[in-house]
Amino acid sequence: MSLSIKKGDTVIVRSGKDRGEKGKVLAVFATDGRLVVEGVNMKKCREKPRKQGAKGQVLEKPAPLYRATVSLYCEKCGKGVRYGVRGEGKNKVRICRNCGREV
Ligand SMILES: [Zn+2]
Repeated sequence: MSLSIKKGDTVIVRSGKDRGEKGKVLAVFATDGRLVVEGVNMKKCREKPRKQGAKGQVLEKPAPLYRATVSLYCEKCGKGVRYGVRGEGKNKVRICRNCGREV
C-alpha cells in the first residue's frame, strides 16, 4: 500500500492561482503524478446539447493538477503539512510532522 496522498485525503494547494484552497482528493493518477481535488482548478467545459435546438450547458469541473503543487492538510494544525511514516507493514500510518497526529 502506498502512503502517499490518496483518494479521500484533504489537501491544500501550495502554489498557482488556487493557492490556499483546500479540498478532498477525488482521484489520483499515479502514472502521471496528477490528482483531482474537489473545487480546485475548476475549468469550464461546454456540454453539447442532447437535443437539436437545445442549449448546451456550461459545466465547471475540477481539472487535474500536479501532485507537487499540493500538501496534505492537517485538521489539527489547520494548514498543509509534511508527513512522516510510523509503524511497519500493514500498520503503517502517516504522521503529521508538525503535531504528531495521524493524518
Ligand atoms: Zn498536524
